[in-house]
Amino acid sequence: MTATRPTRPQSRFFRARVTAIIDLTPSLRRFTFGGPDLADYGDPGFDQRIKIVFPTARTPIDTMPTGEDWWTQWREMREDARPPFRTYTTRAVRPEAPEVDVDMVAHDVLGPASAWIATARLGDELLIYAPTTSHTGVSYGIDFVPPACTDDILLAGDETAAPAIAVILEQLPRDARGVVVLEVPDADDGAYLPVHPGFEYRIAARAAGDRHAHLIAGVEDVARRLVPSGRGAEVEEIDIDRDILWEVPRTAKGGAALKSAPLYAWLAGEAGGIKTLRRQLVTHHGVDRRAVAFMGYWRLGKAEV
Ligand SMILES: Cc1cc2nc3c(=O)[nH]c(=O)nc-3n(C[C@H](O)[C@H](O)[C@H](O)COP(=O)(O)OP(=O)(O)OC[C@H]3O[C@@H](n4cnc5c(N)ncnc54)[C@H](O)[C@@H]3O)c2cc1C
Repeated sequence: MTATRPTRPQSRFFRARVTAIIDLTPSLRRFTFGGPDLADYGDPGFDQRIKIVFPTARTPIDTMPTGEDWWTQWREMREDARPPFRTYTTRAVRPEAPEVDVDMVAHDVLGPASAWIATARLGDELLIYAPTTSHTGVSYGIDFVPPACTDDILLAGDETAAPAIAVILEQLPRDARGVVVLEVPDADDGAYLPVHPGFEYRIAARAAGDRHAHLIAGVEDVARRLVPSGRGAEVEEIDIDRDILWEVPRTAKGGAALKSAPLYAWLAGEAGGIKTLRRQLVTHHGVDRRAVAFMGYWRLGKAEV
């Protein structure tokens, strides 16, 4: 009989302790996490998404089921006993420390993440569900999947997408070309993004009472300039208050859905705005929908879970 060696998990919960808190810009706060458990925290790159379990007075992190069937067990818990978790982006991993940075928007305290962000102190602990260094193959937690030959890349979103856009810009080759359209709460938030020599930056503060106006105008301009005139395609209507607004075009093996495209668009942020941008590109400007990834990162007036 041959003994089977236990396989190391592709993803797991990491116990992480806050080791630094820095306000990078008026809206973006960097939390650096440390602790020995992070030694095998994986870094597949780009917009790798993670889940963070935020402790509350009623639900300390040890109440979180962390085994392989954590999701089923969590769902079976009484609703008021479930430790809340929200989705974030790995901003940086320093395995030698080991340390992990996560940049979080310090918005009004409306949910468990924003409550924690507003009050967290050095030494506080939480759990991060992320890939491990044993992760192999395609990471389905990465939604930036451009065709191998892309003339231009459009990265558009709001402040919650800024950390993902930052990593994408840092990891793209120097000869990549494109435009970033970013709408943020404060004009000084624009300083957050790293400079990529091939990208044009269109960053503006949100106009009072006119959420998404900058995004819509910026994406319209990019489409007029960079999209060869094509025939618009109908997109199916998604009820963003009921369904998740999320589409990442891929092949069955997880790669880019197209081999080449004149423009690849990655859109992430508040679902209402992202829905408009997708329609603008696909229906009005005829961008091939297989070259448009769109992700509703959050929904105005609605909690994530
Ligand atoms: C793949 C992915 C990656 C993400 N990466 C990041 C990241 O790196 N950094 C980051 O800061 N966020 C990121 N987000 C967004 C983050 O998960 C949400 O903002 C989350 O809902 C915040 O949780 P909460 O507990 O504060 O609010 P919830 O309990 O989820 O919602 C409560 C209320 O707060 C409102 N709300 C939620 N987010 C915001 C906001 N940003 N501004 C104003 N009101 C809000 C909701 O509309 C709702 O009314 C990401 C989301 C996804 C899906």
